[in-house]
Formats: sequence, structure tokens, C-alpha cells
Amino acid sequence: MKYFSLNNKSHKVSFEEAVVAGLAPDKGLYFPESITALPDSFFANIENLSHEEIAYEAIKQFVGDEIPEAELKRIIAETLCFDFPCVPVEDNVFSLELFHGPTMAFKDVGGRFMSRCLAYFNRDKDIKNTVLVATSGDTGGAVASGFLGVKGVEVIILYPSGKVSDIQERQLTTLGQNIKALEVDGVFDDCQDMVKKAFLDDSLKHKNLTSANSINIARWLPQMFYIFFAYQQLKKHNKPIILSCPSGNFGNICAGIMAKRLGLPIAHFVASTNANDTVPRFLEKGDYDPKPSIATISNAMDVGNPSNFIRIQELYHNNLSEFEKDFSSYSYTDAETEIAIKDIYNRTKYIAEPHGAVGYLGLKKEMAKQPNSVGVFLETAHPIKFLDTVEPLLNLKLPIPKQIESVLGKDKVRTKIKTYEEFKTFLG
Ligand SMILES: *Cc1c(COP(=O)(O)O)cnc(C)c1O
Repeated sequence: MKYFSLNNKSHKVSFEEAVVAGLAPDKGLYFPESITALPDSFFANIENLSHEEIAYEAIKQFVGDEIPEAELKRIIAETLCFDFPCVPVEDNVFSLELFHGPTMAFKDVGGRFMSRCLAYFNRDKDIKNTVLVATSGDTGGAVASGFLGVKGVEVIILYPSGKVSDIQERQLTTLGQNIKALEVDGVFDDCQDMVKKAFLDDSLKHKNLTSANSINIARWLPQMFYIFFAYQQLKKHNKPIILSCPSGNFGNICAGIMAKRLGLPIAHFVASTNANDTVPRFLEKGDYDPKPSIATISNAMDVGNPSNFIRIQELYHNNLSEFEKDFSSYSYTDAETEIAIKDIYNRTKYIAEPHGAVGYLGLKKEMAKQPNSVGVFLETAHPIKFLDTVEPLLNLKLPIPKQIESVLGKDKVRTKIKTYEEFKTFLG
């Protein structure tokens, strides 16, 4: 399979080159040159397949012959080492829980898959790749855990000082080995700017920099897997399926649309956002006008200019009327999100965290327009990661899961930086 840059369709690279580089030299996102739907028999029989079999069928055309079948199957098995239950919340409404992995966020899936692809590509090489990640909270922990101990890869995580929760900070700073954490005196956008600048900096070419955000195809494409798993669990209801993704960089929802291109019967997509409403405004006004990010209680979605939106436009060939048939996008304030967390709990005893609650709100809005459907929202993180919001709202104490307990007693190790020059000195 070849991938082209969305900035220049004649620039084509292999899967390996796209994974290793992250972004094309012209700063375009990579996109697969063809997408072939899976046979009807696959969907007719999906309830009899294992997660690993489903994932292999979904991803194999995108990897092609660059990773041998047995290796790819091993990578998939190591990626999918936890459950993806679709939990009933109320009539016809399900929560697809993506938080049962090592860092309790969906990003474990992409982080684990990408790290193992890179390790495979580095198997006989002496070169070292440096993965740079700017995080507003969740990405860093999942990438760090996914890459821990991976040969030939050093991971450097930049996070904004005082802007991530204590648990998130511990997940970033306590692993050691090939994982380094930088506490940046600034906000998330400052971290992101440093990373972007480093990618453009010729004097850092020798570091073989790559990114592990969902711009990287090896982080983005495996996010299709759990959309297939949701269908596998919801198929028996025999109703059109509406999928609502609490969206920040729009990686999950874009993976969902890819899954639909492979034939997965998802009737409608909802991108639910917090106050960072660039896409809902675009759908309402027809004007794509990104704004600087605004801080909210669903901080992993505080993104002013969603990087994967350009891939979604490509998937719809920039045809706005086709796009609007399949896709809605709604924005919610923190106050609405808090009310939803309380309301869901009071009626159903289900504990949603702020991201999932935004997903729930968007789903309900769409289901009111399409009542004969079954709906699923992604619960993208475990409530414990947002306990400062969830516990006082619900007036309860959440038990600490074992994955979190294991980082609580450890000391935080990080280097504090303020300027790009300090960042460069650290990179060496
Ligand atoms: C990253 C993240 C999101 C946003 O996902 P995108 O695929 O970037 O839209 C939502 N919720 C949580 C908890 C996250 O960590």
C-alpha cells in the first residue's frame, strides 16, 4: 500500500516510510492511495470472529506486505490485550468503553500498535528514532506506556506545567527507561509549537524525529478496530447505528469513517465537541475558521484546529452535501457536560467522565432526530483520570483501579523547560 501526502498527491511513500516520518516533508498528512471494502461475508459472520481476526482483516490492506502476516498478527495480539465492552446505559444507548487498557485511555490501542510497528521496522537497524509528543493529558501516558522498552526508540513527552492532573502527570513521569518527560512552563499550545518547530529544524535531522499523535497512520488506523467491535456487539439490534465520538483532533471519528469505507454499517456519525467548536461552526456557517484552543473540563479535546479534519474532507472528496448526510457535529459547554454527568448517574448509575458525557450529549441530540436507531458513544477514558471533576459532582469516591495504583507511589522524574532553546539543548 502506498500513502500520499494530502498536500501533494504525487508524493507517495510506503507504509514504513509514512510511519517513520509521521508527517510528509511538505507537512501534509499521509492518506492511503486506495481503500477496498471487505466482503459482505465478513460482516455476515462477524459475531463468530475474535477481536484479533477482525483487526487483522481491517488493517491488512493498509500494511500490505511490509510486515509479514505472522508478525502483524503478533502486533495485533499485543495491541488488543484488553476488553472493549459496549455497556448498556439506557434504552438503545450504549457506552463503548475504551478505557480498560494499561493507561485507561483509548490511546493505548494506537500507542501500542504504532510502537510495535516501529520496533519491527528497526529490527535490524542501528538508527534511533525519537518520538516527540505534546500532550494535554492523555496522549502522553498512553504513548509512553506503549513505547516503554521498545528498541531503538526514545520518547520525549512535553506537557504544560500545572495543566494535567496528578494521575496523568505520574503516568508520564514515572516510567523511566526510554521515556523522558519535559514539564513546560506554558500551556498546551506552547508544547505543540515546540514540537512543530523541532520537526522543521534542520539542525535536528539526525534525531529522526517522528510524532505519535493521530496524524501518524500507525496510531490512527488501528483506531478502526474498536468501531468494528462495537458493530459486532450492536448488530443483533438490527437498527441503524449512530456513533458519537467525543472529538478533539478527530482521529477516532475519522477512523470510524474509514471503517464505513471498508463496509462497516454505521448509519451516522456525530462529532461531539466541548467549547472548541471549529467543526460544529463550520457545519453551521460553512466557514472553516479555527480558533486558539480554550481550556475545558474535557481537556483531551481542547483542540482549536483538529488535525484529522482534512482526512475526513478527503474521505468525502470535499463534497459537503455527501458529508452532511452522514455527519453531524454539536458543541457543549462545561456546565452542560457537568449536568449530563449528574443526570446520567442519577437515572442509570452509570459513571461517565467529561469526554464520554460530551459524546453522550451529541448522541442523544442526533437520536432525537433519528428515533428508530441504536446509539453508541465512546467512553474514551476512565472516570478516575478526571476524579477532580467526577467525584464532587456525584458526591462519591471512586475506587482506584490497579493500573493507576501502580503509578501513585512512584516519584515524578521530569526536566523543567521554558524556551525552545532549552528544548533543543535537552534533545542534544
Ligand atoms: C485524545 C482524547 C480524545 C479526543 O480524541 P480524537 O480522536 O483526537 O478526537 C477524547 N477523549 C479522551 C479522553 C482523549 O484522550
